[in-house]
Amino acid sequence: MASRIHFDGRPVWAEVSLGALAYNLRAIRRWVNRPEAQAGPGGSSGKSGKSRVQRKVLAVVKGDGYGHGAAPVARALERAGADWFGVTCAAEGAELRAAGVRGPILVMTGFWTGEEKTLLDHKLTPAVTNLETLRWLERAAARRKRGPVGFHLKVDSGMNRLGVTPEEIPAFASALAASPHVHLEGVFTHFASSDVLLSPQTEDQRVRFESALERLRGLGVPTGIVHMANSAAIAARPETYSDMVRPGALLYGYHQFYDVPERRAQAEAQLPLRPAMSLRARIVLLRDVAPGAMIGYNARWTAARPSRIAVISAGYADGLMRALTNRGRALVRGQFVPLVGTISMDVATADVTGVEGVKSGDVVTLYGKDGGATQWVSDVAALLGTVSSDLLCSIGKRVPRFYVD
Ligand SMILES: *Cc1c(COP(=O)(O)O)cnc(C)c1O
Repeated sequence: MASRIHFDGRPVWAEVSLGALAYNLRAIRRWVNRPEAQAGPGGSSGKSGKSRVQRKVLAVVKGDGYGHGAAPVARALERAGADWFGVTCAAEGAELRAAGVRGPILVMTGFWTGEEKTLLDHKLTPAVTNLETLRWLERAAARRKRGPVGFHLKVDSGMNRLGVTPEEIPAFASALAASPHVHLEGVFTHFASSDVLLSPQTEDQRVRFESALERLRGLGVPTGIVHMANSAAIAARPETYSDMVRPGALLYGYHQFYDVPERRAQAEAQLPLRPAMSLRARIVLLRDVAPGAMIGYNARWTAARPSRIAVISAGYADGLMRALTNRGRALVRGQFVPLVGTISMDVATADVTGVEGVKSGDVVTLYGKDGGATQWVSDVAALLGTVSSDLLCSIGKRVPRFYVD
């Protein structure tokens, strides 16, 4: 792969496999529609006596598609059959419309006053997260006079960030009844701890969410599309699937952390995914140093023997985390080499002593496959004690993304 990419620029780049994204989307769709996962509680698909309804998949492409590039990612996923898209703000939604995405786009984090115009101009579906934003939306929709504007209600089921609590549902229902220019198309909630299998919080949240749905129905408000599951819930909690699921991390090829290693291995075996992102740079200089030579800022690495040091055209502004200083590894000629010395903003250094045939210009793989060896984002995330999504979103804007297959 790496050898096929040629461009005139600083040699650091990302390769995004659109084929992997489409594969992951289809795998998720099959997984949440497997026969054993049918008849979950909550949504309309759980009602008995009804013929099986295919659960929908909302592809989460916020944060510039988790660093992969929102527009090309969303276009590829739309071709592969994504039903909905999820973004964080109106501007992210407008970017998808400009790229030609026609499917429904949910602005999941709600909106702030001033974003209504962009929401309506681009036919985005906002999340209403409290009574005040419902009033803002009704006012903006009334001014348009173009038929009711659909929205999804976000329910706070215990994360205590955004959303209407089950207790506030009656007040919400009366405010909705007094808002003729908007209409409720869906209801959702978001889990705080679905990646922690031993935590009872997810089940508590699900039960609270169900109580909000029941209150709405009791007040004669149809709930529309009901959805709650993020990646970790999709992998391990079929009772949360309802009408639609909202994968982010899974789409890009990564399971979330679990506290129970066997369950993580089980999820990886049952729902195998393909990481979509590779990150590569080149060796721009080789330097042979004598014992005692100190490398980089603050001399945090000193050669203990005659060493061959590779200077790499990638730093923390590109997404090579500074916390990997003297801890991380890279792949050169199919071999792991240690990153040595402080990772700076633009440059890193690796000890390539003993790598057969190494030369200036060689490809350095930071994430991805090189020969028989791989280093995925999840490996580095585990080393740093963070999640894959954090590292993916850290890949710098100046790193060109190339879309393959
Ligand atoms: C980001 C986000 C998701 C996706 O989360 P993953 O853990 O990456 O799957 C789903 N739903 C909402 C509301 C989100 O904000």
